[in-house]
Amino acid sequence: AKALGKNSFHYYTKSMRDKALKRMTLLKDLRYAIGHQQLFVEYQPIVDLATSKITKAEALVRWQHPKDGLIRPDEFIPISEESGLIVDISNWVFRQVCADVVHWRKQYSADLQISINTSPVHYADQDSCITNWIDYMESHQVPAEAILLEITEGLLMSGDDSVSNKLFHFKKNGVGIALDDFGTGYSSISYLKKYPTDYLKIDKGFVQSVTEVTNDKVLCEAIIVMAQKLGINVVAEGIETKGQYDMLKNMGCQFGQGYLFSKPLGKQAFNALLSQQ
Ligand code: C2E
Ligand code: CA
Ligand code: CA
Ligand code: CA
Repeated sequence: AKALGKNSFHYYTKSMRDKALKRMTLLKDLRYAIGHQQLFVEYQPIVDLATSKITKAEALVRWQHPKDGLIRPDEFIPISEESGLIVDISNWVFRQVCADVVHWRKQYSADLQISINTSPVHYADQDSCITNWIDYMESHQVPAEAILLEITEGLLMSGDDSVSNKLFHFKKNGVGIALDDFGTGYSSISYLKKYPTDYLKIDKGFVQSVTEVTNDKVLCEAIIVMAQKLGINVVAEGIETKGQYDMLKNMGCQFGQGYLFSKPLGKQAFNALLSQQ
């Protein structure tokens, strides 16, 4: 038993070392990727449930690794946050989105909005303040209403005044705020009063059981009613079936996103979709 214990200890440290090494390589590759056209943005349509029109889209970053193929954000966003690289990634995504949305608003739909995921790390960064985005938009003729910032409850939990100031600064300049993954964290209702929230995105976990007789159904409906009374628009994430769509629409949910409408699309494919409607 002793030998086995020693052995498993040996394997344990080896796997720890492998993990750390893999992480370091990934980080090095990611740092390189940003400046070398390996990152790209996909757009997932957000549909107005009443009219079925695409009025918004969420920008989702992807990484085409030269050797490992497509790497999903869940794999590289966490390490980019730990290392601070997320600031460069976010700035890069933001600029892509600015260029694309200006083009699409001119070409196809004047009130199209693109929502961008933002990281708490970026709000805390001293050197590259996220509020610089406002200056960038002004100097590049990007209307403030064209951009929505997705934030998560984790950002608000700190209760940090500087976070709150930044969010109000965006709000004052006309940039909308969407609270992402609502229902998965602490979901403190007080956040909705305290911060300038324009949209609330109900997490796909709730949406996926909305047609079953569960508490999730009751919660979904309660969230929608509450948001409406507070003047906050609701986006349901992860709609995959017609049943979920009908249920949410009947509950009064205004917007939907999910595979039922479309998976995230490359720039060209999303462009083609816009040109058809
Ligand atoms: P999220 O913000 O909650 O994004 C929604 C995720 O749900 C996306 O995964 C999307 O592809 C997926 N999804 C959309 N519709 C459906 C559906 O009908 N069913 C199911 N099962 N899934 C659906 P993705 O693209 O892999 O992104 C994962 C997470 O990575 C995002 O979760 C977000 O937290 C983060 N992320 C993505 N892009 C960025 C970025 O540019 N910056 C930052 N900071 N985070 C990002
Ligand atoms: Ca999101
Ligand atoms: Ca989400
Ligand atoms: Ca998420």
